[in-house]
Amino acid sequence: LRKSLERDELTLYFQPKTDLATGAVIGSEALVRWHHPSRGLVSPAEFIPVAEESGLILPIGEWVLRAACRQAKAWQDKGLPRLPVAVNLSSLQIRKHDLVEDVAAILEETGLSPAMLELEITESVLMEQARETLSTLHRLKEIGVTLAIDDFGTGYSSLSHLKRFPIDKLKIDRSFVLDVARDSNGAAIVSSIIALARGMGLKVTAEGVETDEQLAFLQGQGCEQGQGFLLGRPLPAPECEPWLR
Ligand code: C2E
Ligand code: MG
Ligand code: MG
Repeated sequence: LRKSLERDELTLYFQPKTDLATGAVIGSEALVRWHHPSRGLVSPAEFIPVAEESGLILPIGEWVLRAACRQAKAWQDKGLPRLPVAVNLSSLQIRKHDLVEDVAAILEETGLSPAMLELEITESVLMEQARETLSTLHRLKEIGVTLAIDDFGTGYSSLSHLKRFPIDKLKIDRSFVLDVARDSNGAAIVSSIIALARGMGLKVTAEGVETDEQLAFLQGQGCEQGQGFLLGRPLPAPECEPWLR
């Protein structure tokens, strides 16, 4: 993993985000993959934890941010619709004292408008580091990027923290979306998160939409955005152009 950067073995896949009312693609999420020389394509679920423990997530995260911004700008320059790209930030990145400067420098360098970058931070990271993170979040908002809470509902959420965070969007974790058609508690949790987001003036995205039944439920509840295998799998950049168009 330490050598993966210099050997150019990391790559980004992009998964579409869809407007559930119209079916239009409204953006994408950049998801890192590792082309391991002997093991083939390695999932981030396997190597991100290792990268976090070893600190390698800092150079890897910076690589991801730069590559995602560069790709979004390249699509715009090709005349494809101007759509935001989302990038996942890990706990060490959030704690880096000059994260905001890094993000600003990468936007400047790649020429991507800040409004076209969304940063996803998991609920558990936000809540664990609430006090330290608050000013970083405010400074990120000031430079004009969008902030989303990822895997919402799986962490140890404090609603009093939630109301103070300058965030724009909640992403409902896919474990809840998986449950909507299976049990009434699952459905109740998802509708409550949608109502909470609406009440707080936040956008809401459902993750892991895999079936027509889940899609119909989410549409019925007025969930604005969705992401999942039913709507589009993560793909390498060149293969994304048809759906971007
Ligand atoms: P995440 O940010 O919540 O990303 C969504 C994950 O769900 C992705 O897995 C995506 O491929 C998967 N997914 C999307 N739709 C469906 C679906 O319908 N069904 C199922 N079963 N899965 C679906 P992926 O790409 O393996 O990434 C896993 C996690 O690794 C991400 O979760 C994120 O937390 C982390 N990750 C990925 N790329 C990066 C990165 O560049 N930086 C950091 N810090 N973390 C990353
Ligand atoms: Mg994410
Ligand atoms: Mg997630």
